[in-house]
Amino acid sequence: MNAGAAGILASLLIVRAVEIATAVLNLKALRPELPPEMQGVYDREAYERSQEYTRVTTRAGLVKQGFDLAALGAFWFAGGFQALDKLAWEWGSGPLLSGLLFLGALLLLSALLSLPFSVHATFVVEERFGFNRTTPRTFVLDRIKAIAIAAALGGPLLAAVLAIFAHAGRTAWLACWVAVAGYTLVVQFVAPTWIMPLFNTFTPLCEGELRERIERYAASVRFSLENIFTMDGSRRSSRSNAFFTGFGRHRRIALFDTLVTRLTAGELVAVLAHEIGHATRRHILKGTIVSIAHTGAMLWVFSLLSGRQWLYDAFFVERASVHAGLALFGILLTPVETVVAAATNAWSRKNEYEADDFAAKTTAEPEELVGALKKLSVQNLSNLTPHPWHVALHYSHPPLLQRIAAIRAG
Ligand SMILES: [Zn+2]
Repeated sequence: MNAGAAGILASLLIVRAVEIATAVLNLKALRPELPPEMQGVYDREAYERSQEYTRVTTRAGLVKQGFDLAALGAFWFAGGFQALDKLAWEWGSGPLLSGLLFLGALLLLSALLSLPFSVHATFVVEERFGFNRTTPRTFVLDRIKAIAIAAALGGPLLAAVLAIFAHAGRTAWLACWVAVAGYTLVVQFVAPTWIMPLFNTFTPLCEGELRERIERYAASVRFSLENIFTMDGSRRSSRSNAFFTGFGRHRRIALFDTLVTRLTAGELVAVLAHEIGHATRRHILKGTIVSIAHTGAMLWVFSLLSGRQWLYDAFFVERASVHAGLALFGILLTPVETVVAAATNAWSRKNEYEADDFAAKTTAEPEELVGALKKLSVQNLSNLTPHPWHVALHYSHPPLLQRIAAIRAG
């Protein structure tokens, strides 16, 4: 083992150790007694189930992470990257095709390795806790569609990145950045109309009290809406959600059917008000800008490292290339990405507080939002007492009790 390999392996082990420590602390923070705020919302049995759900998913997560690291280590130290690279150069006729073969094979391999875990998560864990509604047929069709979409959308982009880095010299990262950012924006724009309908059916919300109240609220905050839809989320899971699609005057709201059946009209308006809060405070736009900046930074750092022989030596790859560089750089970056994810989550939690505040003030009924959040939390078996480290690393939304306290203090 050379110094580069040892250093990278050590950094991956440190990330895993932090993850394990955080998971253990999180399990220790589970409290047997129901928080007073949730009396009457949770019964004793449901509360115990929510804690069991946290335990089971935490254990499953640790097993998956351990397996992933072991699989990566075995592939890496058995010379897998070099062997695959050699094959790709033999089979592909030139750097572009070889690069696509190499990266495609790696992505397919990692998808195959994670398949048993997602089968277990869906048909064992989610099933046991009553969330799963997916049939094996839907599950298989979803995977096939996802791979086809990834190949159709990701393939051309990857080919462009490989070609640009192979030919554009020192400013290749800049050209790549423009290409990737432009492409992401276009995909984001077409996803709701072209991609989502491949997975779900959207039906316009029928006329009635709920539709009227939503439209009246949207008008009161001058938020233009093209239409309101319900989405058959219950085909896959009993979890619920609401989201916006489209831009400007073409904004549409999609409500999971599971949400519509479980919340009162007032609570639904509160949830939508929260989503409108995100749009009004431009959280979505800011998020897109941050993610484009992040991509640019990554491409720039990649351009500095992609020619360094130590990166290839560390993974026992003989021949430096853009495609091998991209894959190895991705692994090298794991610890940095963990820090970036924690920072992104902190920012997202701040946005959630802002959207809650917007909803509470504009509807003038903070208790409707509190009621909706409580119901959703019970349905999703959310952990009421997560450890602060776990929140810092993984939570894009603040824990329920802190959210309620902030809404009431508003
Ligand atoms: Zn939100």
